Amino acid sequence: MQYRTLGKTGLTVSEVGFGCIPIIRLDTQQAIKTLRHAYEQGITFYDTANAYRDSEAKLGQAFAGMRDKIVIATKTGRRDGAGAQEHLENSLRMLQTDYIDLYQLHQVSTEKDWAVASAAGGALEVVTLAKKAGKIRQIGVTSHSLTMAERLVKTGLFSTIQFPFNFIEDAAQGELRKLAQESNTGFIVMKPFAGGMIDNATIAFKFLRQFPEMLPIPGFDSPEAVDEIVSFYRQPNVVNQTDLELMDTYRQELGQQFCRRCEYCQPCPHGVNITPAMGYQVIARRMSPAVAIEFGRSFMETVPQCVECGACIERCPYELPIPEMLKKHYNMYEEHCASYNKK
Ligand code: SF4
Ligand code: SF4
Repeated sequence: MQYRTLGKTGLTVSEVGFGCIPIIRLDTQQAIKTLRHAYEQGITFYDTANAYRDSEAKLGQAFAGMRDKIVIATKTGRRDGAGAQEHLENSLRMLQTDYIDLYQLHQVSTEKDWAVASAAGGALEVVTLAKKAGKIRQIGVTSHSLTMAERLVKTGLFSTIQFPFNFIEDAAQGELRKLAQESNTGFIVMKPFAGGMIDNATIAFKFLRQFPEMLPIPGFDSPEAVDEIVSFYRQPNVVNQTDLELMDTYRQELGQQFCRRCEYCQPCPHGVNITPAMGYQVIARRMSPAVAIEFGRSFMETVPQCVECGACIERCPYELPIPEMLKKHYNMYEEHCASYNKK
């Protein structure tokens, strides 16, 4: 494992970090075991969020008494000052620390978000004051919107930007990466597996390691999962023609309009289980239609409840035409059911 300075933060971090969403689903002992194993393998950067339920508390327990050995990044999704203050105090308590290395405004993906967060008395003012008070070392921001991410980096107010990047969602390779490099803004890579759409870790990391200034933070749910990713970093990165062709195969299979499984669209007020249903097409390709209809029955049968109210579209950071896509996936599911006589 090698260590780098994360942009202008001055923080020294391992070349791959640990995204803490998956530890939500682990019991506390499993989470602690996985986190400590990651540390033993050289991972020093841990990214969590107020929104990731008990992951801050698990992280705090795992590394109690060794605060100076790790770099902690967390986030607030609140835009108002009082809410951000409450989240920050809660994070400090859960993480059992009196300072946070990197505190990020979470998912600033619309102009409205930014207007509220950056207004007088908003979240940005509160975290800036907290930085002056020593409770935060650096301030970062995360976004799913390329336009907003570029705009936020240009403000010069943030030491890091966290944005999705992988060989399918590679839009950040253009202007955003350039802006980040020019301003020495640390680039933290979320969704190294495109929200689960890339099921080949080797190829995912062959792509990412071509961008050494970017810090990927895959989620880990076991020591074995840590070992797999860390093993990539123990050898030189070689991307050959076969790898490039495989990346192209994935891109063609998924196209541009695909769900990243971020779940921001949920819950549907009419009970549609949107996220898994949005992935039916891919599941059917990967698993075979015969398996997919059994696997997907529970969530696909919620799709006819859609009344096309559009509430989910407004919440989707990728502006996907969700009801239209759900209908397409449902038609495919019905065709599969008919061909296997399963309905
Ligand atoms: S458009 Fe359909 S899936 Fe989306 S929120 Fe409305 S009812 Fe639910
Ligand atoms: S439809 Fe959009 S908001 Fe919902 S999970 Fe997929 S990418 Fe996320």
